[in-house]
Amino acid sequence: MTEKIGVIGGGIAGAGAAWSLHRAGFDVELFEKGPALGGNAKTFRWTTKDGHADSPVLVVAWPQMYYHNYEQLLRELGVGITTLPISYFVQTPDGHFCQDGQTSIARRFSREFRRWKRLVALVTKINDFFLPKKTHESLYHFSYFNPLNLIPLYWLARLFGISSAFWETIFVPIHCASFITTSMKSVPAVILPLLESIVPLEEPTQMGTWVGAPRQVFDRMTERFSDKVHTDHEITSVKSAGGRYVVADKHGRSYEVDKVIFACDATSALNALESPTWLQRMLLGNTRYVDDVDPTFAKFVIHSDTTVLPEKHREQILSQYNTYSEIDEAGALECTFVISAQNPNIKNAGVPMLVTFNSHKAIDKVQKRVDLPHAVHSVSLRNLIMMFLSRYLQGKNDIYYCGTFTTPEGAHDLSFMSGLVAAQAIGAPYPFSAENPEAVADFRLMQKMMLKVGDRARLEKHGERALHDESHARAQAPEREDQPQQVADAYE
Ligand SMILES: Cc1cc2nc3c(=O)[nH]c(=O)nc-3n(C[C@H](O)[C@H](O)[C@H](O)COP(=O)(O)OP(=O)(O)OC[C@H]3O[C@@H](n4cnc5c(N)ncnc54)[C@H](O)[C@@H]3O)c2cc1C
Repeated sequence: MTEKIGVIGGGIAGAGAAWSLHRAGFDVELFEKGPALGGNAKTFRWTTKDGHADSPVLVVAWPQMYYHNYEQLLRELGVGITTLPISYFVQTPDGHFCQDGQTSIARRFSREFRRWKRLVALVTKINDFFLPKKTHESLYHFSYFNPLNLIPLYWLARLFGISSAFWETIFVPIHCASFITTSMKSVPAVILPLLESIVPLEEPTQMGTWVGAPRQVFDRMTERFSDKVHTDHEITSVKSAGGRYVVADKHGRSYEVDKVIFACDATSALNALESPTWLQRMLLGNTRYVDDVDPTFAKFVIHSDTTVLPEKHREQILSQYNTYSEIDEAGALECTFVISAQNPNIKNAGVPMLVTFNSHKAIDKVQKRVDLPHAVHSVSLRNLIMMFLSRYLQGKNDIYYCGTFTTPEGAHDLSFMSGLVAAQAIGAPYPFSAENPEAVADFRLMQKMMLKVGDRARLEKHGERALHDESHARAQAPEREDQPQQVADAYE
């Protein structure tokens, strides 16, 4: 009999796991708490003069040199990829800073920008020493022996003569959108070269984005098992019964499955478990999310009120900058994603599309106010340890885990890969052909992060079923071009 797998959480990790399992012939049931799949990759429908326009609101773009598997997925689903310039504007009580302009703030910190560059070079050298065999640009290279995993970037920067004013005025307002928090003093120094290659502090950059909105990715991933997708199903209980599991939602609807993948946050997983073991309690209960530490990004407002931007620079920001951060006299930070600024799909829709976090001002023209609980875990040594240990939970009593807390940091490619690794641990082969060596190498590195040596050896013994079996991937790949896009009926 075909095994039935219950996947809890419909973000990219859960949808990725369910998609991969379904292609491999498993029966899946995908449960999502919210009204639509997507998790943080939410799609919002705006009313425009000519009808409507869909846009991403939180996950907006990605560094293409690192997203080998996610882009492979988009190509396979037939979702177009385009690029978008990424640039930041920071307003402080003493003036403004923007990455492509010589402002008084940039001049004030010019010496520290030079020191920052030297620090990046030093950390790169140390990282290269601990990872001498790096073959390609990857988010997945990680050495457990690198001492920079233990040293916070903030303290290393301070030792390098970089002031806390530079940290608060430049680093935090720019990278709060990378870490989804303003509390970054525990971010390990090892991450610095990666950060600088994705969002250089001094220059605007380019990233990949969808032609259209992220919604289509989830529709296309699940179109062959859409009857097994259960939105508005918040799973509150997972109980074992006669060698299977009964998964029940808060309205009492229940489903029997053979195995479970938790693709939601660690707290929701722990709360759903009937009688968690001490290891489940220790790991799931001790993962820290950004909103456990700092409420700045715990809620957001989707709106079109351009008065949240300073009058003097409003037109410039609306047309050129994706992220606007404003620090007030008390040091509190308000952050606005200017969604309509440069995204080629929507910039001509005629509606300012803004998403504001930690709003200090009254906002008019509000489309929606949204809570964002446990969106991503915080990047810290504590969570790196939790991530490392979570391999001892994988597969125990037929329960698996994926999603942000099983990865080193919050990024769409990492979560997607964690879903593929959980699916593979159950028996679904790596879903893509082996033609893209960088994508395959990233998958293997993710396996190393998520699975115990013994589990990886067992998978290899079983031939990793199709990692090198291109015929499998081709046979399973859906024919594209003319398939209709599923019509969206529920939006965030
Ligand atoms: C504001 C913001 C901006 C970001 N921007 C980017 C970006 O531009 N590029 C990028 O690569 N990454 C970005 N990220 C990171 C990215 O969102 C994540 O790494 C990735 O999308 C997380 O996917 P996930 O599936 O692991 O988790 P989520 O997307 O959080 O999905 C988990 C899902 O589980 C559901 N769930 C929770 N509890 C239950 C339950 N009990 N029952 C059923 N379902 C449940 C939730 O509703 C949610 O849909 C951003 C994150 C945030 C918060």
